[in-house]
Amino acid sequence: MQTPARFDYERATSVAGAIAALKEHEDSRIVAGGHSLIPMMKLRLATPAHLVDLAGISELKGVRADGNEVVIGAIVTQHELVASELLTAKVPLLRETSLQIADPQVRYLGTIGGNVANGDPGNDMPAVMMCLGASYHVMGQGGEHRIAARDFYQGAYFTALETGNVLTAVRIPAPPAGHGYAYEKLKRKIGDYATAAAAVVLTMAGGKVATCSIGLTNVAETPLWAEEAANILVGSTLDAATVKKAVAAAEAITAPAADARGPAHYRTKMAGVMLTRALERARLRARG
Ligand SMILES: Cc1cc2nc3c(=O)[nH]c(=O)nc-3n(C[C@H](O)[C@H](O)[C@H](O)COP(=O)(O)OP(=O)(O)OC[C@H]3O[C@@H](n4cnc5c(N)ncnc54)[C@H](O)[C@@H]3O)c2cc1C
Repeated sequence: MQTPARFDYERATSVAGAIAALKEHEDSRIVAGGHSLIPMMKLRLATPAHLVDLAGISELKGVRADGNEVVIGAIVTQHELVASELLTAKVPLLRETSLQIADPQVRYLGTIGGNVANGDPGNDMPAVMMCLGASYHVMGQGGEHRIAARDFYQGAYFTALETGNVLTAVRIPAPPAGHGYAYEKLKRKIGDYATAAAAVVLTMAGGKVATCSIGLTNVAETPLWAEEAANILVGSTLDAATVKKAVAAAEAITAPAADARGPAHYRTKMAGVMLTRALERARLRARG
């Protein structure tokens, strides 16, 4: 089936208006860039009766610094993430990740809010947000609250976002100047989702790892934060034996599906390879 089922459409002009529309219409759903939702609707895997479009809400736009943190509006596109000078300076991992999402056509429309709210384990941004210690601003009938990315993902397409709520922004603590970072993604071809991918942010002091955080994409029902693997690396010089131990710890928390991207064991091993490469590149980029 290549056409969606019948649905009504409205374009909200404020977050409050979007929340009211979601409450008013039964079986309503938010649409942002539409590059995950519309394909699902075409396949009839999603059949919302009413779409509420966020694209015209100016309060959801823009990237700004807030002290030591960076706040990204939910409808900022992946293309805008790539182009942002503030992000390139403060959180270069986001630019590196965005450039590995699909192709320019998808990046011109796909939004950061849609990417992290979707709950698809194949999306690249969720593991990166866990790695960075980001949190999500969520607005609903009862006002605004924040949810840590590390607490947000509960299963494939199942998140802590309640029905009728809007994810309005992503808040990221900027890693310290001189940090090392990398996003390594194995894909079958340009435009494909990850067979496996790894995000790393680390700092070095006196040639040793001072802090480290690791996220893994598409090797479980949810994105993964590999806390134990990162802890193994702290205090080390990233010598081969310690990296091997950390990679084994990261592989141990994966539980990938066997699919067209390969058998489960292969995808687990590829997560390890991606992590090894990301650690090496992060080390080369780090000062200290
Ligand atoms: C060919 C192709 C290849 C792709 N490859 C990749 C890839 O390699 N890596 C990758 O990460 N992504 C990939 N994508 C997905 C793309 O990045 C999507 O655009 C993105 O995941 C979803 O963003 P969106 O703005 O399009 O969201 P939509 O499709 O509009 O929405 C997705 C879901 O999130 C909900 N939602 C959207 N915004 C909000 C919000 N602010 N608050 C609450 N709920 C919200 C919607 O209700 C819907 O359930 C690909 C897409 C295509 C078509």
